[in-house]
Amino acid sequence: MAEKTTKKHEFQAEVKQVLDIVINSLYTDKEVFIRELVSNASDALEKLRYIQLTEKEIYDEELPLEITITTDDKENTITIEDHGIGMTRDDLSQNLGTIAHSGSKAFLSAVKKGGEVNQNLIGQFGVGFYSVFMVAKSVEVYTHNWTKTAKSLLWKSDGSGTYEIESAKGVRRGTKIVVHLKDEDKEFSNSERVKHILTHYSSFVQFPIKLNGEQINNIQPIWMRNKNEITDEEYTEFYKFQANAFDEPNYRMHFSSDAPIEINSLIFVPKMNPEQMGFGKVDPGVSLYCKKVLIDNKPEGLLPDWMRFLKGVVDSADLPLNISRESMQDSALTNKIGQVITGRFIKTLEDESKKNAEKYNEFYKNFSIFIKEGVAADFKNRDQLAKLLRYESSATEKDEFTTLQDYVDRTKEEQKEIYYLYAPNRETIDSGPHLEAFKAHGIEVLYLYEPVDEFVMTSLAKYADKDLVSADNSDIELEEVAAKKKKALSRKDSEALCEWIKESLGESINEVSVSKRLVDSPAIALNADKVMSPSMRRMMKAMKQGVDMKNSVNLEINTKHDLIKNLSALKDKDADTAKLVTEQILDNALIAAGYLEDPRDMVSRVYKLLEKVSEK
Ligand code: ADP
Ligand code: MG
Repeated sequence: MAEKTTKKHEFQAEVKQVLDIVINSLYTDKEVFIRELVSNASDALEKLRYIQLTEKEIYDEELPLEITITTDDKENTITIEDHGIGMTRDDLSQNLGTIAHSGSKAFLSAVKKGGEVNQNLIGQFGVGFYSVFMVAKSVEVYTHNWTKTAKSLLWKSDGSGTYEIESAKGVRRGTKIVVHLKDEDKEFSNSERVKHILTHYSSFVQFPIKLNGEQINNIQPIWMRNKNEITDEEYTEFYKFQANAFDEPNYRMHFSSDAPIEINSLIFVPKMNPEQMGFGKVDPGVSLYCKKVLIDNKPEGLLPDWMRFLKGVVDSADLPLNISRESMQDSALTNKIGQVITGRFIKTLEDESKKNAEKYNEFYKNFSIFIKEGVAADFKNRDQLAKLLRYESSATEKDEFTTLQDYVDRTKEEQKEIYYLYAPNRETIDSGPHLEAFKAHGIEVLYLYEPVDEFVMTSLAKYADKDLVSADNSDIELEEVAAKKKKALSRKDSEALCEWIKESLGESINEVSVSKRLVDSPAIALNADKVMSPSMRRMMKAMKQGVDMKNSVNLEINTKHDLIKNLSALKDKDADTAKLVTEQILDNALIAAGYLEDPRDMVSRVYKLLEKVSEK
């Protein structure tokens, strides 16, 4: 008697959850299972085509790289077969028994986050192989890995919690999936119905798809075709196919060049930003091809990291066909290709922003983080990328953007700086003391609302030969504001007061001086740290970078302000009260600047002051 090799296995817990959702909650759009199985078959063929470049010994060498689909409406089955790389016993358990792969994992985390379980979710993440259980009573996967020593295997399951793996006989290279359909899903054994589905979802597959013997797709890749012959619909369909996406592309760049390098590329900007939706850092989404052969679908070194949100294809005939993924990453040629694409892409965005600013601003709201990351980290493209930055400013309305270039165009030539201020929102900057003097001088200030923006400004350092400078920097010297014909304290009194304040405040302050920039506020706190701004310091602390939390702050006082004049007299009459007042002035200035770390002392001090005032 033949040895019984059947082994029963439990699906991993997460797989059970996915199966449960797939089987019980998804009634619409069941047909997507065909797209998922065909896309897996196509992946397996692409991997084999790549292996053929480097390996000599391949099982069933002569088999064509194609996908065959057969339907049987008597037996109620649909069978999808490919001659790709196939699977070993370990592959079967790992790939079909656990969810180590991308689609289902993201799907599950979206569901756990309270995402609505509907066909949109499947469309966005693809539940991959498991979607077959929407329509299947049971599934048999016959497979033979591409190596000559591999075994013929059969995996089967009814999707209810367990699967079995046993030895099989005479399986050809690749994978054959026999789907035994539920009675109510009989339609998927109908040849016309399946043909319709395939033409909708799978017309971009790079390998012949034969349905019951008839080839139904055109395998000329869209990125090699002439732009003028491609409709918007075709582009959109290709994007959805290639990116496994449900949304429409936001922008596209179809670009070809012959010299110095032969490149055909088709790149899309999606509408949705998955990182913004909390899915963590995404993998690069632009695949690298050489003469229509996939080299790598997530090439790490091709494009700069900040471009990982893009989807699409780069095909270069100049790449050596048998280039390995590892050597690809640091080859000078791939760098060159990457650089050409990057330059073109930035230019495309710049053009698009001029053509339709509103559309660009909408894109910017969702994707600006990538542009900013680029400015901070992509040294080569920094200056070009800076043109894509957008900020509100003291010269714009709320929700209106300016470019750095527009800022420069508006400033007088003798102004050698571009000023910015960081605060969480517009109101805080508008009402804060730092803006006062700039407003009085009619100098525009950019408004930065995210801590990362300060990193961006510090990394960029200059734009159009003008230094980027934070307006709360203590080094800035503005001409004295001549406003308000109020009398200031005498020079002697001012100096004495500054000295006295410095003495009373001690370590908590770096320097005290008479301000030239203040108009209405009694005092202002300025950042005296050359390296890091207070908000950057706070961010580093939150990231546990072991930074010393003490800000280095200079205090400037407005000697035309009544409060300061009173203080000058008070310090000689009632030093204790004057000290309380001084401490409170500092805290107020710190709050206004957004620097105050610990407000606890302030409460008891304010009570003491109130007590004194109410005595009189
Ligand atoms: P994904 O395609 O996102 O990785 P799937 O659930 O569609 O997720 O597939 C899971 C894994 O099973 C694939 O990554 C692949 O390793 C393996 N697999 C599925 N179908 C095939 C096939 N036809 N040939 C070889 N491997 C396959
Ligand atoms: Mg898949």
